Amino acid sequence: MISSRRDFIKSTLGAGILAATPGCFRRENRPKTTIAQLDQAAAAPVLKTEYLPSPVEIASVELLRNGQNLFVRATSTEGAVGIAMTNNARMSFLYPILVQRVAPYFIGKDARDLDALIDGIYVHESNYKLQGLAFWIPVASVEFALLDLLGNMAGRPVGELLGGIVRRDVAVYRANNHRGKTAEESVELIAKSVAETGARAVKFKIGGRMSKNADFPPGRTEALIPLVRKVLGDEITLYADSNGSYDAPKAIEIGRLLEAADVAFYEEPCPFDYLEETKQVAEALTIPIAGGEQESSLRRFRWMIHNDCVQIVQPDLHYFGGFIRCIRVARMAAEAGIPCTPHMSGSGLGYLYMLHFASCVPNIGPYQEYKGKSKDIPVTCDTSSLESRDGVVRIPSGPGLGVDFDPDFVRKAEVVTG
Ligand SMILES: [Mg+2]
Repeated sequence: MISSRRDFIKSTLGAGILAATPGCFRRENRPKTTIAQLDQAAAAPVLKTEYLPSPVEIASVELLRNGQNLFVRATSTEGAVGIAMTNNARMSFLYPILVQRVAPYFIGKDARDLDALIDGIYVHESNYKLQGLAFWIPVASVEFALLDLLGNMAGRPVGELLGGIVRRDVAVYRANNHRGKTAEESVELIAKSVAETGARAVKFKIGGRMSKNADFPPGRTEALIPLVRKVLGDEITLYADSNGSYDAPKAIEIGRLLEAADVAFYEEPCPFDYLEETKQVAEALTIPIAGGEQESSLRRFRWMIHNDCVQIVQPDLHYFGGFIRCIRVARMAAEAGIPCTPHMSGSGLGYLYMLHFASCVPNIGPYQEYKGKSKDIPVTCDTSSLESRDGVVRIPSGPGLGVDFDPDFVRKAEVVTG
C-alpha cells in the first residue's frame, strides 16, 4: 500500500498547488521553518489597497433579518454597499455580540485598514475575553460585508483584494455524516452522494463525536473503513473525520485502518484541544492529520504547524474570524509546506466564502468541502452557476463577493437591534 501521506502530496502536487514545496509532509522532510519565519508569514499585509486610492469611511454596519436569514449590510459615507450572509445557525443567538460589541467599532473607520481593524476589534474593550466562535463569527460576518463593499468599489472580486487570483475553479468533496446507521447503510448513502455530485473525493464520519472511544453504533467504524474503499473503488480520494472521538491509543489503532484503506487525511482524531495527544497520533502514523476547525487562536495554529501536530490546517472562515485571519494561517502553513483546507460552516453561503478563499490562496490542497447550493437564500450570480459540475465549482469573478441579493429580500428585511 502506498503511504497515504505520500499519495496526498502527489495529488496535491498534481493539482499544482504546492509546487514550491515538494517533499513529504513530515517535518524532517519539509522546509525547515523557524517561529520567526512563521510570524513573518502571518504578519505580512493581506488586504491590497492599490485599487482603492481614497479613504472609504464606514457609515453603517447593520444586521438584517428576513425570516431565518441573517445578513450584514455595510455602507460607506459615499453610498457604497456591501452585503454578506452570516452563519444563520449561530447568529440566531450571537446577534447581541455583533450588534453591541462588533458593529459600532467599525463606524467612522477607513475600511481600507481592515487588517488593522480585525486586530483592533479583538482588543477593543477587552473583547479578547470572548474569544471563540461566539466572538469571531460576528467579526467574520462584518468583514465579509466590508470586503464586498470594497470589492464593489474597486470593481474587483474579493480574491483580487486579498492577494490576487490564483484559480478560477475548485474541485470539491461532500462530507457525509451517517453516524447512528450501520456501516452498510452508511456506505450506500455515501456512494449515492458521490454519484450526485460527481466529486472525485468524499469525506465520511467515523467514531461517535467527542465520545471517549465509544462508537455509534458499536463496531461501525471498523466495518465502515474497509467497506467504503471496497465499494467506492481505488480511484476516489477518501477523507475521514472522527470529530474528536478518541484518546491517542484508540486514535492510532483506527488510524492504521485508515492507512490500510489509503485514506488521504484523518481529521480531528482526538478532541480538538488535546494538542499533545493529536501530536502523538501524528507521530505514530503516516496518514496526514487534519485539524483546526474549532481553533480561534492564531498563536495555537502557529504551535500546531511548528510542532507538526497537524499536516493540514483547517481554520473555519466564520469561526476563525474571516478571510484575513484565515489567510494568515494559510501563509504560515505555506511557509511550513503544508495545505490550509478551510472547514466550512454556515450552510447558507459558507461555500461562497470557501470559493473566494480558494480563489486567492495557493496552498488549499486538492479538494474543498461543498455542501451544495443553498435554495433558501435568493442570490444570483452571472459568473458561476454556484453548482458542482463533475465535482468542480466555478468561482464567481464579479465585483466583491460576486453575487447579487434579490432587492426585494433585502428591502423586506428588518434591522436587528441588540
Ligand atoms: Mg470536522
